[in-house]
Amino acid sequence: MNTSTKSTIVVGGGIIGLTSAWRLAKGGYHVILLDPSPGRGATWAAAGMIAPHAEVAPGERANFDLHRQALTAWQLLSQELDDVVNRRVHISVTGTILTGWDASDRRLVDQFRQVATDFGVTSTIARRDTHPEIFAGLSDRISSGLLLAGDAWLDPDEAIAVLREGLDALGVDVITETVNAIEGDASGVRIHHGSGSLRADAGILATGALGLPEGATPTGEHAVRPVRGMTVRIDGIDRSGAPTLRCLVRGRPFYMVSRPGGYCVIGASSEERSGSLIEVGELQRLLRDALEVVPELETCSLYETRVGLRPASTDLKPFFEEWPERRWAWSSGHFRHGVTLAPLSARSSVDFVDRVTK
Ligand SMILES: Cc1cc2nc3c(=O)[nH]c(=O)nc-3n(C[C@H](O)[C@H](O)[C@H](O)COP(=O)(O)OP(=O)(O)OC[C@H]3O[C@@H](n4cnc5c(N)ncnc54)[C@H](O)[C@@H]3O)c2cc1C
Repeated sequence: MNTSTKSTIVVGGGIIGLTSAWRLAKGGYHVILLDPSPGRGATWAAAGMIAPHAEVAPGERANFDLHRQALTAWQLLSQELDDVVNRRVHISVTGTILTGWDASDRRLVDQFRQVATDFGVTSTIARRDTHPEIFAGLSDRISSGLLLAGDAWLDPDEAIAVLREGLDALGVDVITETVNAIEGDASGVRIHHGSGSLRADAGILATGALGLPEGATPTGEHAVRPVRGMTVRIDGIDRSGAPTLRCLVRGRPFYMVSRPGGYCVIGASSEERSGSLIEVGELQRLLRDALEVVPELETCSLYETRVGLRPASTDLKPFFEEWPERRWAWSSGHFRHGVTLAPLSARSSVDFVDRVTK
């Protein structure tokens, strides 16, 4: 390491920590990232949708504007990674088809269309007779849906793998240990982990829904709680040429992201609690919805379930809380959208570190 190079510690190697570490390393910092199991937090369970149009929600205009920038930010990041490691994060812009199972679900879809229109989102109605390819494999009961162009998805496993290759190539040190305590003052930061202590010029906390290490000094303006979610991985049906499927089933949201070759991620449950064990009823509800909407799943193979804790803030918005006098910042609260927003949040990390270390 060049002794004049400034250093940064990133605590947490989910999608937020990894993209921050990448951007900081690209910005010329020597980066040390610590996580006992990088990429195995909420990011591991995520479906990887980047869906600003399907995620429109009343009162969430700020989130919508951010989400719309995210796709371009991911495409740029993917190109940058490709330039360094000759491997990209594939981003599929398939759009979304949003449907309803029963009359009351379809009314909710109509209401959604009104909100989306108010946000300036263009949508069209797709019907089974005019767009048979979109409805192939779906229950006969579903004969129309709202088509939202421009939504996309990526594979979070691939994103984690490519980012880690990128960090390797840029000389980032990844230490697979938990950070137990942090310190900081105007001269720099220090962390204590299982096998010792490390110093750096600045630090970023990207610990997702988990608590902050001892010594962190949140202002009280933000708090994070875990909202648990489960996805199920299935093999044997390839709808990758069609828009990502979202369906309301008796008021419950169901989605299926289909990748080339037959790998599908279906989801997702959402509960205000932590814990990684899957209740039988929770799995049964998701599979029942899935089988009703996509009967062809009957003969597919179920090969994995994954659980993650979405980091939800009080107002459900992501935040970047700065403690400049201690040279630490805390990036969290990404809730349902951390994969989407990661490359944008990473920019806040560099802006902060540039400012406190200049
Ligand atoms: C079922 C499900 C589906 C989802 N689908 C989508 C989707 O389609 N699109 C989308 O945009 N988002 C989706 N999300 C949301 C997204 O996964 C999260 O917002 C995002 O992963 C949060 O990233 P993170 O890096 O903040 O947290 P995490 O991925 O949880 O990473 C935090 C990391 O910090 C580490 N850590 C914590 N404390 C310490 C410590 N003291 N020392 C060292 N390391 C520590 C943990 O080990 C962990 O690896 C989904 C989430 C779930 C659960």
